[in-house]
Amino acid sequence: MQKFSYHTHTDFSDGSNTLEQMLQQAVALGWQEIGVSDHLIIHKNITQSISYQNMVARAHSNMYHSDFKKALPLFNKRAEIFRKTAKNYPLKVYLGYEVDYFTYDGWQEEFKDFINHLDYDYLITGNHFFTNPEGTEIIDISQFKKNPEQRTKDSLENYLRRHYQSIASAVESGLFVFLAHLDYARKIPDHQNFPMLDERLKIVDSLHRCNIACEISTKGLRKIGDFFPENNILQELVKQKVPLVISDDAHKTSELGYAFDEAEKALKEAGCAIRYHLK
Ligand SMILES: [Zn+2]
Ligand SMILES: [Zn+2]
Repeated sequence: MQKFSYHTHTDFSDGSNTLEQMLQQAVALGWQEIGVSDHLIIHKNITQSISYQNMVARAHSNMYHSDFKKALPLFNKRAEIFRKTAKNYPLKVYLGYEVDYFTYDGWQEEFKDFINHLDYDYLITGNHFFTNPEGTEIIDISQFKKNPEQRTKDSLENYLRRHYQSIASAVESGLFVFLAHLDYARKIPDHQNFPMLDERLKIVDSLHRCNIACEISTKGLRKIGDFFPENNILQELVKQKVPLVISDDAHKTSELGYAFDEAEKALKEAGCAIRYHLK
C-alpha cells in the first residue's frame, strides 16, 4: 500500500494542525516520506471571494494573497522555518504547494517570476474557483450552492467549461508534477446536469501528452462519497498511461492516509500499472 501523501495541508493555509503535528502523525503511521502542499492562491481580486473574511481571520492563514510581490517574502520565510522543523523528524519531508492556476492577463507571467524566486520542492495544481476571462469575478466552488446571495453573472455551464479549460491550461504549463482533484466541481449538486465529459477528457488528454501525473483523492470519499476523479475518468487515465498517485488531501492529522486501502483497490480494479513518485 502507498505509504505517503504528497497532498496535505497545515495551519499555514486551511489545515487544522501544525506542521509538527502532521509530521508526528506521518511518523506514527510508519511513513518514510511526506509532501506538505499548503495552498498557494494569489489572485488580484481574491478579496472578493466569499470565503476571504473567514480565511484571513485565522491566525496562521496565508491562504489568500492579491499581490505576488507582497506574498513572496512571507512564503520564503515560511520555507525557512519549514526546513528547520522538518530536520527534526525521521522521514523525508518535501515542501510543496497546491496552486490555483488562473488565466487572466498577466497572471501566468507573474506566477512564473514568483516561483523563480520561491523556495519549494514541487508544485501541484488544484482549482477551487470559478472565474471569468478578465479575472474580475472569483467564485468559491465550495460555496456555490450554500450562498445564493453570491451573485453570478454567467451560466453554471459557462463557469464549468472555463473551469475545466483552465485546469487543462495548468497541466499544459508543465509547471506542476501532478493534478489534484480533477473533477472537484462534482461537489456542486447541479454538476450532473452539465457533466462536461468532453472537457474532462481533454484534461486527461493534456495529462497524457504532457506526461503529467494525476491524483486519485480520498477527499472525494469524505465529501461526496466517491473518489476524485470518478471511475470513468480513472479508467481513461489508466488507458492513457497517466501516472497516478493516491492523495488524502489531509487537512488534519486524522485524515493522513485516509482510506488508502480503498484507493489501492480502485487503482487495482482499473488496471493501473504506473504510479507517480517524487524523485
Ligand atoms: Zn484542493
Ligand atoms: Zn488540498
